[in-house]
Amino acid sequence: ITSQIHTENELRRVNRELDQLLKARTSSLTTAHRELQLMNSVMQNSLNGVTITDDSGVIQQINAAFTAETGYAPDDAIGKTPRILKSGRHDETFYQKLWAKIQTTGTWEGEIWNRRKTGEVFPEWLAIQAIYDEMGQVTNYVAVFHDLTELRKKEEEVEFSTNYDALTRLPNRLSFLERVDAAIRNARRHETSVAVAIADIDDFRRINETGGHPAGDAVLEHLAGTLRETVGDDATVARIVGDEFGVLIDGIIDQWDYLQTTDRLAAVSEKPTTIAGTSYDLTLTIGVALFPGDGDTAMTLLNNAEAALYQVKRRPRLLEAGRVGMYTAALDEALRRRISIESQMRIDLENRRFVPFYQPRIDLATGRVVGAEALARWIREDGTVVSPGEFIPLAEETGLIVRLGEVMLDNVHRDLAGSLAPFRDDLTVSFNASIKELLDPGFVERLSHRIAEGGTANTLELELTESVIMDDIDNTMPVLETIKAQGLSLAVDDFGTGYSSLYYLKRLPIDVLKIDKSFVDDIASDGNDQAIVTTIIAMGKALNLRLVAEGIETPQQREFLTTHGCTEGQGYLYGKPMDRDTFVQFLETVRGAVP
Ligand code: C2E
Ligand code: CA
Ligand code: CA
Repeated sequence: ITSQIHTENELRRVNRELDQLLKARTSSLTTAHRELQLMNSVMQNSLNGVTITDDSGVIQQINAAFTAETGYAPDDAIGKTPRILKSGRHDETFYQKLWAKIQTTGTWEGEIWNRRKTGEVFPEWLAIQAIYDEMGQVTNYVAVFHDLTELRKKEEEVEFSTNYDALTRLPNRLSFLERVDAAIRNARRHETSVAVAIADIDDFRRINETGGHPAGDAVLEHLAGTLRETVGDDATVARIVGDEFGVLIDGIIDQWDYLQTTDRLAAVSEKPTTIAGTSYDLTLTIGVALFPGDGDTAMTLLNNAEAALYQVKRRPRLLEAGRVGMYTAALDEALRRRISIESQMRIDLENRRFVPFYQPRIDLATGRVVGAEALARWIREDGTVVSPGEFIPLAEETGLIVRLGEVMLDNVHRDLAGSLAPFRDDLTVSFNASIKELLDPGFVERLSHRIAEGGTANTLELELTESVIMDDIDNTMPVLETIKAQGLSLAVDDFGTGYSSLYYLKRLPIDVLKIDKSFVDDIASDGNDQAIVTTIIAMGKALNLRLVAEGIETPQQREFLTTHGCTEGQGYLYGKPMDRDTFVQFLETVRGAVP
C-alpha cells in the first residue's frame, strides 16, 4: 500500500478528494449566513435603486442607488411609503392595475414616471416583487428600479441624428425619403399627387471659399429657416446633402397647389440676404418631379428632381433669378413660366422697376423733336431690360396692367417734373393704355388727379388702339369724352389694323392717327401699302387729324411719307426708345443742331 500511495499521481488524487469534501462541508455550514451577506452587498452595491417595504408598503430599507437617483436619504424615506415618489403623471387606475397584478401574480414590471426630491419627474424601469412567508402571506415588497432618463436622452439623440441634420435641424435625406414614401402611399389612396422639389444654392462653393465654412454653415442655417417659413404648413423642408434642400408637397389636387409653392421658393432668390453682417445674393435653382407622372418611388422622384435641377443649371441664366425646372413636360412649361413671371412682376411693380423709355416723335419736314412716346420697360434687378412684348400680354391677362399703367403714369410725371422739365413746353408725351385700364373704375379719376397735380394736360397724349376704342364703344366713349374734356389729346394707335372706319372716326373725340408700322415697312416698294397709306393720310386730313407714321427706318420711307403729306413720324431712323437720361441727351443734341 505504502508503495502504492507513494506514487505521485495517487497522492494528487487523494488530495483533491479531500479538498472537495472539506469544501462541501464548509459551504453547507455557512450558506444561510453567506446568502444574507451576499444579498446585502448586492443590494448596496447595485446600480439599481432598491426599496424594501413591509407588507403594508412602509419603506424599511433603501440602498445607496435609491438615494442617488431620488435624492431621498434613508432618513427621508424609511418609515414613509413610496408615494413620496409619485409623479402625478399616472392616474389612479394605473396604480390600481399595478397592485392588482402584484396581488394575483406576485410581481409587476414596467415603465413608470416618478418624482425626485428636487421635484423633477423622470422615467424609470420598475420591478416589484412580493415576498411571502412559508404560510403564503406577504411579508415584504421589494422594488428595484433604474432611471431611464439617460437612456431616453441617448435614444432621442440617436433618433435625432438618424433622422435630422444637426446643422439646420431639418429632417435629413433618410427621413425625407421616408416621408416621400409615406406621401406616395397616401396619394395612391386618395388619388392625389406628390411633388418633390430640390432647391440648390447657386455658387454655394464660392460662399464657402470666400467666407470659409462658418460662413457657409451660417448661410445654410439661415436658408433652412427661410425655406421653412416660405413653405409654411404646405410642405416639408429637409436637407438632402450639402447645399441641396428637399421640399415635399403632398396632397396635390391640381397644379396650382404646388406651382405656388415652387414659385414662392424661387422668389426666395429675389431678396438679397444679410447673414452675420455680410450681404448675399442667394439664388436658388429648383428641380421638381411629380408622382405619379415622373416616378412612383421616393428614390426615383428624388433622382428625377435632381436631374431636372441639373438640367436647369446647364441652361444659361436669363430672366429669372430663381429658376425652376420640371422633370418632364408633365406640366405646361408656358403655364409655369407665366406664374413665375407674374409673381416677379408683382414684386417689381411695387418696386417701380417698370419705367418709361422715350421714343422721339419727329416733325418730318424739319427734323424737330415734337414729342415722345413713353414705352414701358421692365428693368430687372440685374439690370436686364425687358420689352413689353414679354410682359404686356400677361399683364393684361392677370389685370396687372392696371397697376402697370399707374406706375408708368407716375414715372412719366416724375420725369416731366424732373430732368424733362426744361423741354416740356415743346413736347407732347404720349402713353399707351389697354382696354382693362381704360375701363378700370378708377382710371379716369387717377388720371385727372395726376394731370391736375402735374399740370400736364397740355403735354400728355393718350394712345389707344382701334380695337380698344371700338370693341366696347358704349363704355369707352364716355371715358374718352371725359379724358378729352380734361385737355388731353387722343391718338388712335396702330391705325389701319382694325376697323379703320371713317364713320366711327368722325364720331370719336380724337386728334391723332398713328399709321401702323406694318404699312410703313414696305412703303417704298409695295404698291398696295402705298395705296393704303395714301388713303389713310387723305382720310386723316379730311377729318382734320394729325398724322404720325410709326416705324420709319429708312430715308426712302420718310421720303414717301413726306411727299404724301404725313407730317410726323417716329422710328429707328430717328431714335429707338431710350431711357430718360439718354433721351435728355438726345434732346440737348438735336436742340443744338436744329434751330
Ligand atoms: P406700340 O404702341 O405700337 O409701340 C410702338 C412699338 O414699335 C414699340 O415697341 C417701339 O419700340 C417699336 N418701334 C418704334 N419704332 C420702330 C422702328 O423703326 N422699327 C421697329 N422694328 N420697331 C419700332 P415696344 O416698345 O416693344 O412696345 C410694344 C407695344 O407694347 C406697344 O406698341 C404698346 O402697344 C405696348 N406698350 C408699351 N408700353 C406700354 C404701356 O405703358 N402701357 C400699355 N398698355 N401698353 C404699352
Ligand atoms: Ca403706341
Ligand atoms: Ca403703334
